[in-house]
Amino acid sequence: MSAGPVIAAASGLLSCHVCGLLSRGAHTGGTLHCPRCSAALHFRKPNSVARSWAFLIAAYILYIPANVLPIMETSSLFGSQDDTIMSGIIYLWHSGSWDLALVVFIASIMVPLLKLIAMTVLLISVQRRSTWQPVQRTRLYRIVELVGRWSMLDIYVVTILAALVQIGALATINAGPAALAFGAVVVLTMFSAMEFDPRLIWDPLQKERFDHE
Ligand SMILES: [Zn+2]
Repeated sequence: MSAGPVIAAASGLLSCHVCGLLSRGAHTGGTLHCPRCSAALHFRKPNSVARSWAFLIAAYILYIPANVLPIMETSSLFGSQDDTIMSGIIYLWHSGSWDLALVVFIASIMVPLLKLIAMTVLLISVQRRSTWQPVQRTRLYRIVELVGRWSMLDIYVVTILAALVQIGALATINAGPAALAFGAVVVLTMFSAMEFDPRLIWDPLQKERFDHE
């Protein structure tokens, strides 16, 4: 055996997800339990790819109503108006607030879509046991996870938008059904990233190296 990084799973070692204890286990047999806290032990998160896909597909489906349905329902003396995210952005752009329009566009349309695409790339590459750019893919995963925590920014933007419109006119603003779909997209993408096991990115490379040795 050459000196270098030790791969726990290849050496038959598992770490406990709850207490972090490293213990020895065999690849065969039933469920292993941590000798210290008796939590179930796994070499990799069980069914990580399938679960991650399930959340991701649900997020893709809800991305449609989030963009098609009204996010804001404005009603004033002059009538009522429904705005989707995109029509809101266009309104902001034409009324001169191009900077705010840009922020809303990036936070509400670009970032959620890029996260969905990033998770798709990660899942497909892992399923195909790709050995392509593992460092970059791990970095991509870290970015998705990091952005997930700050994603509620999108919701804040909508709230700020509502407040701005409210100041401008004597009107009542209600969040439309898209706001709910929108929040669901954010949460589902976060779940998808949480279920994904980034160690899967490195497993095909390991396998390849073992085969060569
Ligand atoms: Zn434990």
